[in-house]
Amino acid sequence: MNREDFAILKEQVHERELVYLDNAATSQKPQPVIDAIVEAYTHWNSNIHRGVHHLSQVATQHHEDARKAVANFIGAKSSDEIVFTKGTTDSLNALAFSYGEAYIYEGDEIIVSGLEHHSNIVPWQMLCARKKAVLRHIPLRADLTLDMEAFAGMLSDKTKLVSVAHVSNVLGTIQPIEEIIQLAHARNIPVCIDGAQSVPHMQVNVQTLDCDFLVFSGHKLYGPTGIGVLYGKREWLEKLPPHEGGGEMIEHVRWEGTTYNELPYKFEAGTPNFVGSWALKTATDYINSIGWEAIEAHERELTEYCEQQLLDLGCTVYAAGQSKAGVISFNVGEVHPFDVGTLLDQQGVAVRTGHHCAEPLIDTIGVPGTVRVSFGLYNDKADVDAFIAALKRAQMMLS
Ligand code: PLP
Repeated sequence: MNREDFAILKEQVHERELVYLDNAATSQKPQPVIDAIVEAYTHWNSNIHRGVHHLSQVATQHHEDARKAVANFIGAKSSDEIVFTKGTTDSLNALAFSYGEAYIYEGDEIIVSGLEHHSNIVPWQMLCARKKAVLRHIPLRADLTLDMEAFAGMLSDKTKLVSVAHVSNVLGTIQPIEEIIQLAHARNIPVCIDGAQSVPHMQVNVQTLDCDFLVFSGHKLYGPTGIGVLYGKREWLEKLPPHEGGGEMIEHVRWEGTTYNELPYKFEAGTPNFVGSWALKTATDYINSIGWEAIEAHERELTEYCEQQLLDLGCTVYAAGQSKAGVISFNVGEVHPFDVGTLLDQQGVAVRTGHHCAEPLIDTIGVPGTVRVSFGLYNDKADVDAFIAALKRAQMMLS
């Protein structure tokens, strides 16, 4: 699917054609996204919002058009609900600080799940340490699904926020976020969804989900690094204090004190990444031009095709048989995942190995790490076949 748009896929690695299966870490960029960055620096680079001159106005228009495109892409009610950040981690830190300042007190509880990326754990741990609050996590059942009965029992008047991953970056499994949101909302508890691994693989609509916050990264979504999104419902963003001070986020600054800018600028201190936002818009245009139906069907087919072959080879696939969004984790017997990854790399196949920034989950599984393959829209069955052939050779060398 549209492989020709991704020039990097023609690169040779160790004298073999690259087979790129590390999309959960970062995706490759289609030519229109690369062109958008070149076009920005070639034709309209200028600092935004502050200039009366032509270039500044063009750059401002691009940045605000990008905000509208991103709002449409995730079904937000208004572009004021889109805060541009550096990425998922930055969005979660911003939310933890801002929400924490306003709403977290000693003894309050925040709930995450047992399969979170460190980005959705550590900012909350830091907040809990500052405020003497408590971070709890939804336990996992033996099949690595969330124990929803336990979750329902954890909710109480002390719970002030739930923040969960939509798709596990290790297992690829899709979490029951609709149910989580319903249960939390029944007690007026807001919910943040970490969409880092879902927004690149499926249509996510914040109004249908009714989540209060959604965070994701541009670079996993065929866009550039250094740009991401913190979506928040207007009623929340209006109430929350800014997490950073500086230019752009202010209305007036006096020695006596400062008043803050309107949404969303209150949360965008300093010069924003206006080239990144434009390139991210280009990435969303690119995805829209293909359509979610085609992307989802293609990636589902590839994931199932790959998982079956891994099982046939006798590999341990984690959360085998569960529906996944483009990510599979496995191990080859007792072999260290790093050794498998190295042997695959020598054959031009890029996968990721280790704890995938989700140590608590890896500890629960009880392994030193996993080998993770993850797909993008440009991967095809030939990539899976090349990967499986390389894995067979690795198995032979290891045995
Ligand atoms: N959350 C999840 C589920 C992720 O997979 C990742 C990255 O892999 C992150 C958060 C952090 O994203 P970033 O490094 O782009 O901030």
